[in-house]
Amino acid sequence: MLTNIIPSTKLKIVTVHKIQDTSCWRYYYWRWIRNLEPRKMNINFWYGSVLHAGFQTLIMKGLKQALINMAKESRTRRSRNVLTNEDLQECDLQMRLIQTIIKAAAVQPFIKHLKMEWAEKQFKTELVKGIVFCSTLDGCGTYKNEKVMYEIKTAKSVTNDYFTALGLDQQIHGYGVQMKRSKLPFIAKVAYCVFRKSSKWIKKGQSPDAFVEEIQQDIKERPEWYFIVDSQQRTFPYLLTMGSNTLQDTEADIIQTTKDLQHKYNVPEKTLLNHEYWPKNCKHCLNYGACQFLPLCRNIRKNELYMRFYQQRELRYDEEQSELKV
Ligand code: SF4
Repeated sequence: MLTNIIPSTKLKIVTVHKIQDTSCWRYYYWRWIRNLEPRKMNINFWYGSVLHAGFQTLIMKGLKQALINMAKESRTRRSRNVLTNEDLQECDLQMRLIQTIIKAAAVQPFIKHLKMEWAEKQFKTELVKGIVFCSTLDGCGTYKNEKVMYEIKTAKSVTNDYFTALGLDQQIHGYGVQMKRSKLPFIAKVAYCVFRKSSKWIKKGQSPDAFVEEIQQDIKERPEWYFIVDSQQRTFPYLLTMGSNTLQDTEADIIQTTKDLQHKYNVPEKTLLNHEYWPKNCKHCLNYGACQFLPLCRNIRKNELYMRFYQQRELRYDEEQSELKV
């Protein structure tokens, strides 16, 4: 298994995710140098991408196609990973919940105001000589006839601080930088669609049908809990305007971090591939649940033994091929 995982030893592209992962250098090493991802499926990631595909298609092509695309997205995600019988059962139940949410979204008053002209487009621009900055935008279109960029997210817990922090969010403003650099017509407004995952659990002795019915009823009674609205705007989607100062600041951050990375890669390959060159930041180990690389860091001297639980990370951009060690 290990021989199939090819590390990346050159820096040819950066993305916002890559830049954000520099907050723990060891994480960066496992993910972007060693190119690892767990073989076991992360159900939260699967849930997010299926719901994302469903909502995007719902806006563009309607409910029937949304349900088809969700099933397709689920199959694609599942085919990449290992699933236990327990995972399969959990996925089946969660799939029914996602379908319930998308069907409920299709009849919410907000849906008629959302129009998406295109989705999932890749953009590339050179910010630092020899390195391209790549992003995939969720979509662009209109909200109440006003031009917007769409961002679709799933979250477990959302406070008003979550929305306040969006005012400087690197991912959204990174897209803004990309739009400006790519000479696209610049759209300053972002329609931020956040879905909350139900915190309810199937009760002992409750059938899946009864549980799905319970969620359907809950969505009817408090739709704003699932299609999240904040206490100030009270709208779904949440509308955010990208300010020129934050865009400029984000661009400076991306350029500076890319230069730092470029400098960090400027060592012999043996050094680059040595985990000791990439120090840990243990403050991040429990961010968003447990870090996916905990078993490797926890057993650092024997980390090769744990590699059987990992596989080659999905390469999303063509340019990533040119980073691979030959
Ligand atoms: S387990 Fe902790 S130190 Fe190791 S990569 Fe993850 S966040 Fe970094």
